[in-house]
Amino acid sequence: MGKKIVVIGSGLAGSLICNELVESCEVTLLEQGRKDEIAYPPVDFMKKHFGAVKTFCISEGGTTNIWDNGLIPINPHDVLSETFRRVLHDAGRYTDKAAGSLFLNHYSAEYNAVCSEMSHVAGSTGAFTDGVDCLLYPKNYKGLRVNSKVRAVYNVSDLDVVVENGRVRTVVYFAEDGRQTVETDCVVVCAGALGTPRIVNKILTAFGSSVEQAGTGLADHPMGFVGKIKARHDFQKQIQQMALRNKGDYICRTAIRLKSECGRYTCCAFFRPAVTMQNKLSIYKYKSLLGASRAGERIKNAFSWKLFHPDILAEIYSHVFSAQIPGRVFNILMLFEQKRGSSRVYYEGSRIKVDWRITDEEMDLYNAVLKKLHDMLLPISEELVIQIPSTEDWLWSAAHHSGTISLGSGSDSLIDENLRLKACENVFVCDGSVIQEHSYANTGLTIGQLGMRLADHIMKKDMA
Ligand SMILES: Cc1cc2nc3c(=O)[nH]c(=O)nc-3n(C[C@H](O)[C@H](O)[C@H](O)COP(=O)(O)OP(=O)(O)OC[C@H]3O[C@@H](n4cnc5c(N)ncnc54)[C@H](O)[C@@H]3O)c2cc1C
Repeated sequence: MGKKIVVIGSGLAGSLICNELVESCEVTLLEQGRKDEIAYPPVDFMKKHFGAVKTFCISEGGTTNIWDNGLIPINPHDVLSETFRRVLHDAGRYTDKAAGSLFLNHYSAEYNAVCSEMSHVAGSTGAFTDGVDCLLYPKNYKGLRVNSKVRAVYNVSDLDVVVENGRVRTVVYFAEDGRQTVETDCVVVCAGALGTPRIVNKILTAFGSSVEQAGTGLADHPMGFVGKIKARHDFQKQIQQMALRNKGDYICRTAIRLKSECGRYTCCAFFRPAVTMQNKLSIYKYKSLLGASRAGERIKNAFSWKLFHPDILAEIYSHVFSAQIPGRVFNILMLFEQKRGSSRVYYEGSRIKVDWRITDEEMDLYNAVLKKLHDMLLPISEELVIQIPSTEDWLWSAAHHSGTISLGSGSDSLIDENLRLKACENVFVCDGSVIQEHSYANTGLTIGQLGMRLADHIMKKDMA
């Protein structure tokens, strides 16, 4: 009989880890959501709202049921924390395995080839001095599912642990048939950046800690449409290719990399389809709402006169046909880097409290980055309009919730480089919460890489 593993949460990280471990271990999965149902837990925003759309959900597959499956690695060179950079470097070995499980095979080869192609295309404009990066979207993808060999229990609540000699020996939970217990050699917490701190704090309390330590450091990508460009005739082809490149099994969107003046922050801009040069926040917010909602919600949101705005129709056409509309006008979509700071998640009963902020210092830095982008684009533009100064009203969450568990060598860090909870021999944490820095990169591929790396570590580790 293999090691007994309990995985908490069956989202992106939890599903991949279960599916990796189940071939050699006895895996029990405890998931808060009901089987075959997607639910959105109540969230109170203490300051800035993430945005109008739901940015996470509970269910088998977790947030992969509502995501876009765009895959891009975090470039370790953009990361300041030495410890996290080392972890990312090491997790690079698992890129193809993670991407394959996320519906895109031979990822590294495709990514390197398309990055080189698009660097050449972008380089021929002479404009993009900080380089470019590529975000790959497989055309066929679905929510993740857990292998049937995993003992999966859904609709669980009130998780707790029994500890003995520095280890968690038993996990206690409530399910439809009442209070249950499961003996374990190892626990992996994968409840997402907004769910994991609750469980980690519970485990720390079981080990005698009197203060809630997990939850601070919440970071996201403040994201928004900030302007429009009408490209000069001689640069139209390059910009169109950067906006969207159909590569058969996947499409590629090219990001313009933008380093802040201090060099500490790396942000990016994408070109998106548009028709008019109007720079209207209400249309941008509607576009984001429509783009990020799913199924019934999307149909409900479609009932608006804004659906017929030419810029919205252009985005819909491009999305449905994976094709760029002919023309020279493009939206500019920015993703700004945010570092771990005092933003945090905490809990009151079943409610999740999110205290997310964009600080004045961040806004100043973002405006300087926008000015840099403006100066880059001016020589290749016939017309250019960018909202400078921008305010936080123009920005909302890219749903890349991260950073709520600290990793590193400092005394305030909760997990080590193997993602093990320092206070406990046999508890690991893996999901968006352990991402310490993410430049402009979507987090899904990194979560997958870290999940595969952790599964490998657990299989090799002596858990006795
Ligand atoms: C609309 C949208 C589009 C996105 N597009 C992209 C994209 O294109 N590319 C990209 O890289 N990223 C994208 N993301 C972000 C992406 O979803 C996340 O990076 C990723 O899914 C997070 O994975 P996770 O494992 O950290 O958490 P989740 O997938 O959210 O999983 C957490 C799981 O834990 C469970 N859980 C929570 N609390 C408990 C508890 N107490 N007990 C038991 N179980 C619990 C939840 O039910 C859930 O199943 C997008 C997000 C959204 C919302």
